[in-house]
Amino acid sequence: MQLPKNRPRDPVALGIKIQVDALAMNKFWTWTDVARGEVSCLGLVEEIRDANTGMITALLVSDFFLVKQCCSLDETMMDAASVAELIMNLEAQGIDSRKLRCWAHSHGSMSVFWSGTDDDCIAGLANGEYLLSLVVNKQRHTMMRLDQYHPCHLFVTDVSWDVHYPLVDGLAEQCLQEFKAKVIENGLLSGNGKITNYERAHDLHAARERGALTDIELQDELDFLGWEPCDFDEQPF
Ligand SMILES: [Zn+2]
Repeated sequence: MQLPKNRPRDPVALGIKIQVDALAMNKFWTWTDVARGEVSCLGLVEEIRDANTGMITALLVSDFFLVKQCCSLDETMMDAASVAELIMNLEAQGIDSRKLRCWAHSHGSMSVFWSGTDDDCIAGLANGEYLLSLVVNKQRHTMMRLDQYHPCHLFVTDVSWDVHYPLVDGLAEQCLQEFKAKVIENGLLSGNGKITNYERAHDLHAARERGALTDIELQDELDFLGWEPCDFDEQPF
């Protein structure tokens, strides 16, 4: 589906994270940059689960693999034998090839959207479970899509996603210590990072009283939070 021009995109937040590992994304951007037109690759998807509930909290594309393919300005066709070889190589390394649940392709210098050919390709990759698809272009525009094949084929064409940067040992602690040593936070309610609407409203009221927020900036914040001005004014302060 191609979005009508000038209509702002509004990616759907799924309630779980959709992420691509930074190194994997670097590989894909490199192939996107060197290709004259389209190029495609396949990605391994790890299901990140909550230790207590066992529920999936994130789908992480951990690596991308380039297979032999024929590409033009507006088409990309992966070689079936090369895909089979990739599956065999993964299995030989003890990697479950069913984790190949991401298809990524670049539209070169064209806009990002799901073409009829893309729809056919995604339908052809039906694995009985689900598939993430990522389309990008050289200008760094991206769109992620989630298809479910069971019990019937359903999909969301534009889901929120981000890049997953691996943790570096000790870096978070070092950043925390540096933050504590250098940053003084004034006028903020103490909290554990989980900010309630009550705290948000309090901060906005305080900022408006200080003159730190213009009416337009306040309206932008309310729009961002999805609040009506009357909701905000009714907060008890
Ligand atoms: Zn396409």
